[in-house]
Order: sequence, then structure tokens, then C-alpha cells
Amino acid sequence: MINVKDLHKSFDATEVLRGISLNVKEKEVVCIIGPSGSGKSTLLRCLNLLEEVTSGDVLIAGENLTDSRVNINEVRSRVGMVFQHFNLFPHMTVLENITLGPKKIKGIKKREAEDAALPLLAKVGLGDKANVYPDSLSGGQKQRVAIARSLAMNPQIMLFDEPTSALDPELVGDVLSVIKDLAREGMTMVVVTHEMGFAREVGDRVIFMDEGIVMEENTPDKIFGEPDNSRTKEFLSKVL
Ligand code: ADP
Ligand code: MG
Repeated sequence: MINVKDLHKSFDATEVLRGISLNVKEKEVVCIIGPSGSGKSTLLRCLNLLEEVTSGDVLIAGENLTDSRVNINEVRSRVGMVFQHFNLFPHMTVLENITLGPKKIKGIKKREAEDAALPLLAKVGLGDKANVYPDSLSGGQKQRVAIARSLAMNPQIMLFDEPTSALDPELVGDVLSVIKDLAREGMTMVVVTHEMGFAREVGDRVIFMDEGIVMEENTPDKIFGEPDNSRTKEFLSKVL
């Protein structure tokens, strides 16, 4: 579903991704861990064209995003992304936030978009919040709305960039359990996370990134149980 080959990304003279290769199969959940500044967010952003790739290839379901003919909106509706900060529109209700993309990008009629949105809200445990404004919600609820908003585009792949890092600890569990449900339903996902328990439980594979490269990649049990790389060991000794 995702094939990344020798991906390099520079900002001016600074090379942030220094040759990343990565494959994600359909229905696979890959968790990415690693220190701040290692390029995790930049990598995710290259997977849905929020960043332009400097060199290398990024294929999504066989389509090469580095091809100048790709339709950016179409790629972004196939590859959903959820950020640390939820980025909901404050002047729109929850339902309007969720239906905006389907209406504007996919040209779906308002009524039909709303009919599709309500079950998604129920799925993230917010069936009674359709008509409220984001400001009245907790951080965890906002993040679940953001997940429903992404799902409304009917993506093939979901990318999560530290989806629980901005949340109070007691709100993390509800968001993680929504992501776990998606995993169980077979959504293909890449999750950048500091929640090592989640990565261990839900990840089919864990990637440790450091300084713009994949330092180590393995099953969760191997990475967390007996990592090969000294940098992985050092990182885990700080966060576990
Ligand atoms: P992580 O998500 O692992 O913390 P990032 O991908 O956010 O890492 O950042 C990796 C490096 O790239 C950092 O040094 C960051 O300052 C730099 N960087 C990220 N985005 C930009 C940008 N738009 N312009 C310049 N430098 C950037
Ligand atoms: Mg980041």
C-alpha cells in the first residue's frame, strides 16, 4: 500500500530525511518511534504531499506521488492524516467540520454527507455532539472528531502524528481505543507515537527513526524486548 524508496527531504541546506525506505502492506499497522527532531513528522507529511519530496519515490497503492501529474486533493483524500493539534475549524459545528471535505472536495450533497457523518461520530463515541462547536469539547473529544473528519473522506490509509501528545493523560485512552478499533477493522495505518504500550500492543511493526534514517525496524516484541541497535536501546531506556 505504501512504498517509500530512498526518500530524501531537505529544507534549504538541512537534510532532514536522509534516505528512508519503508513498505507498508494493506491492513498493516506500523508505529514510528524516535526522538524529537528525527524527521517523523516530515516523513508522514511526505506520504500525503503536505511536503514536496526532494528525491526518492513515494508510492501509494502503486501511484508515484513524485509524478508531477498526481492530483494532490485526490491523494489527500486517499491518505487521511490526524495531527497532534486537532486543527478543527472553530466557527463550524462538529458536523460541519466532518462534512466539509466530502462536500467541497468530493462534491457530495449536504444531506448525504451528513447521513454518512453521523455513524462516524457514533463510532468515535460522540454521537450526541453533532451540533456543538469544537470549543465546548475536551481535547480528547476534539481529537476523536478529527479522526471522524478524516474517515469521512473514506481513506485507504490513515496517518497519525502523535495523536495523543497534546492530551491530558486521562483523555489518551479514549483516543487510542478509537485507533485500536480502526486497526481491528483492517485500516492500513502509520502511527507516530510516544505511547510505547500502544505501539507494542497494536503495531504489527515498529520503526525506530533517528537523525533522518530508519535505525531499526522489527516486530514490537523484538524492538521493545531485545533491540539490536544501541541508539534504540538508549532511546527506550529514556522513555520506558
Ligand atoms: P519529529 O517529528 O521527529 O520531531 P520533524 O520532522 O518535525 O521531526 O523535524 C525534523 C527536522 O526538520 C527538525 O530539525 C525540524 O526543525 C526540521 N523541519 C521540519 N519542518 C521544517 C520546515 N518546514 N522548515 C525547516 N525545517 C523544518
Ligand atoms: Mg513530529
